[in-house]
Amino acid sequence: MAKQPVLHCSFCGRSRDEVKILIAGQDGHICENCVEHAQEIIAQELVAYTDTKATGSSNKLTVRKPIEIKKFLDDYVIGQDDAKKILAVAVYNHYKRLNQKVDNDVEIEKSNIIMVGETGTGKTLLAKSIARMLNVPFAIVDATVFTEAGYVGEDVESMLSRLLQACNYDVASAEKGIVFIDEIDKVARKSDNPSITRDVSGEGVQQGLLKLLEGTEVLVPPQGGRKHPEQKLVKLNTQNILFICGGAFDGIDKVIARRINTHAIGFNVNKDAQEFQHNNLLHFINAVDLKHFGLIPELLGRLPVITYLDPLDAATLRNILTEPKNSLIKQFTRLFEIEGIALTFDTATYDFMVEKALEYKLGARGLRSICESILTDAMFELPSQKIKTFHVSLEYAQRKFSSSKLSMLKVA
Ligand code: ADP
Repeated sequence: MAKQPVLHCSFCGRSRDEVKILIAGQDGHICENCVEHAQEIIAQELVAYTDTKATGSSNKLTVRKPIEIKKFLDDYVIGQDDAKKILAVAVYNHYKRLNQKVDNDVEIEKSNIIMVGETGTGKTLLAKSIARMLNVPFAIVDATVFTEAGYVGEDVESMLSRLLQACNYDVASAEKGIVFIDEIDKVARKSDNPSITRDVSGEGVQQGLLKLLEGTEVLVPPQGGRKHPEQKLVKLNTQNILFICGGAFDGIDKVIARRINTHAIGFNVNKDAQEFQHNNLLHFINAVDLKHFGLIPELLGRLPVITYLDPLDAATLRNILTEPKNSLIKQFTRLFEIEGIALTFDTATYDFMVEKALEYKLGARGLRSICESILTDAMFELPSQKIKTFHVSLEYAQRKFSSSKLSMLKVA
């Protein structure tokens, strides 16, 4: 009788006896170990593939016209029209500059941007939305973690590590990215006059930022933090990286008021104009005010575009809740929908949430915690029940909110 051939895995060569399962294909076999291994490879490759797509390493920059940029921002950010317009123009010019021929004798300077506005008014959201639209790598860094070289803290160059990480270390892609430097006001010089003693936290960091913002070749520690002699550094040119700085600049309204008042003395000052000025001081912000606040003139010179964000009033908060493409209410509705439950609200609950966000001084960020406090019980219980609809009435929202921890956090 002819001997049966011994079957082997066509990938690793193990024989039938050495494996638990051997799956037959047309011309070969595969064992359970190789299937598992292949699965891991697929998972890794898929992550790399989606990362590259998300960060746009394809190097293709889709630059839209300023009006289109603003329209795109309108889908995600409520109000802040002046900031959107100024950002749209600055971003458009920045990328126009990137595409211009090198041999041109008119050199267009970078249009790095500084945004001034209370915390939670949408500065980060604006910068993030612009990066999303352009499909370029984007990194958010906090100015307060940086210190002058030689002191404890991170070197300013490490902000570029985040950008590299955001695009899987694709240097060409990172060199066209956007860095959002938050809390730039926290590195302000403590007084307007340059002091003799060095100001470690503030001025040193501002000095460190100058070269980066202007455009230079930097050696970046790929993992961030401080440069170690043993760490391999990546060379990155910041010439085409757009820097957007943001800060609350607490108290800058007084600086602006002082400047405006000194100019406004006279007989022809219109009462309405005065009132508008008084209520909207931030609209008049300029580099001189920022210098008074403690930013050094050299840094301001490298942040030529200045814009402001308005504080959020009740009407804006109400819109933030429901209008943006990925508004909170749309997100929660989707979460329930995935569960097979149609979530609906009394419109009065929206006003209730806004009222609480204002009352507890929580701003737009607080809207999320308020939604959570109202919906957590439902999200906990409903997946185990067989219901198809869930309606949030005003009474339900009030009851859930008042029994939540959040309701105990009221600020005087
Ligand atoms: P900032 O950077 O000014 O401190 P963020 O951009 O981080 O504020 O805003 C915090 C959150 O508040 C955002 O994630 C967003 O959900 C919401 N938000 C704030 N302002 C707006 C706005 N104008 N339009 C839409 N959502 C906003």
